[in-house]
Amino acid sequence: MSLIELDPDLLQDIKKYGAFDVSACFNCGTCTAICPLSDEDGEFPRSIIRLAQLGAKEELLNSKELWLCYYCGQCSTTCPREAEPGEFMAAARRYAIAQNDVTRISRVVYKSKAAYVGFLSLLTIVALWIMWPYADFSATLQPGINPTWIYFDPEFVHWGGLVAGGIFAVWMGLYFLGLFRHLMRQLRLYGPDSTGVSIFSKLKIWIVSLFRVVFTEVLYQRRYATDQDTSVPFRRRRWVLHMCMMWGFILLFASTVINWLTKPIEIMVPITYPTHILGIAGGLLLVYGATRTMIFHARRRDDNYYGHATFSDWVFLTLTNLLGISGFLLTLDIYVPTWQQWAAYFNIYIPEWQTFAGYFIIFHLLIVGLYIVLAPLNKGAHAFYRPLTLWVHEYGKGIKALTTPEEESYTDEIPILT
Ligand code: SF4
Ligand code: SF4
Repeated sequence: MSLIELDPDLLQDIKKYGAFDVSACFNCGTCTAICPLSDEDGEFPRSIIRLAQLGAKEELLNSKELWLCYYCGQCSTTCPREAEPGEFMAAARRYAIAQNDVTRISRVVYKSKAAYVGFLSLLTIVALWIMWPYADFSATLQPGINPTWIYFDPEFVHWGGLVAGGIFAVWMGLYFLGLFRHLMRQLRLYGPDSTGVSIFSKLKIWIVSLFRVVFTEVLYQRRYATDQDTSVPFRRRRWVLHMCMMWGFILLFASTVINWLTKPIEIMVPITYPTHILGIAGGLLLVYGATRTMIFHARRRDDNYYGHATFSDWVFLTLTNLLGISGFLLTLDIYVPTWQQWAAYFNIYIPEWQTFAGYFIIFHLLIVGLYIVLAPLNKGAHAFYRPLTLWVHEYGKGIKALTTPEEESYTDEIPILT
């Protein structure tokens, strides 16, 4: 049996990542009783609070419970000590991201608004400094040609896109591997013994688990969906807004990749081209989900979920919104020459759009760049971390199902320390 190393400052350290007071917690278990996730999958959120109170840092970082919680806020509503367990879970996730951060940037920006603003400003200056020399704002829009190729040096667009994609893959991969290492450690320490299981069976379980997670938890978000407040109009439910943002990203990503694979990117196709329709639908979903969520954060200050947005949450939602809006401005660039021709036919005047077009492109590229750098650090990172956690957890379940009798239920939960 391995000894648990305790860090007496753990709770204080986590507190720096969000406002809450779990020191008031007297371990009554009300939050666990109300949490929709507290079934055979683990004890939410009490077990994590207990680990933090005891200073069991490694066990806390290794726990899947951190990432399965989707911050519904129900535990905070029912806590008799107002210890805000839901906010504690969110702060503990930020803490875990910061611990996995090899650059240490998140440790600074999560704790200080001034540092976050400074970091964003620095990124903006560097991005503009890189892009500006390759831009030609006096260029003239031409129907049928992607304006990015007109206003920017085509070589820069081509290589810049590849380098940005590469940076994103390596950057995100570092964080992804950090979490994977923690999860596998938890599986080794508290999960089922897989000694007798063949490599082939393990591989099969990894693949089946991956499909199960992608279809039920990523594309449909089952746990979120089963916990909807049906008294709220459908279009305003958190699950719906969350699905809008997530599908918005998926459609935009799909449209970009399909475009890149199927046609020369510098050629413009009609607005009715399938990938454009896909991209426009993705942009609309993204802007709708992000705007509504921002409005609710601003208005519902007493709500246990919406009332707790941190500065980094606001930055994430603002960038998400700007990503969609700047994409639409870019789309306008592309089609305005055609619309001007149609408008002239009906004697309607459309102003010379190209005055702004180059600036809209640089604005869109700037937002994309900021998004790439901030991806593993901000709230959007859970889009990668949560599926990974669920995947490892499902794999553990699969191994256990293979190695133990049916009547024994599986849990890879860290034993609760009392
Ligand atoms: S966080 Fe609140 S509800 Fe949960 S165990 Fe502690 S006191 Fe009880
Ligand atoms: S915020 Fe919701 S999902 Fe997370 S621990 Fe609390 S009740 Fe459970």
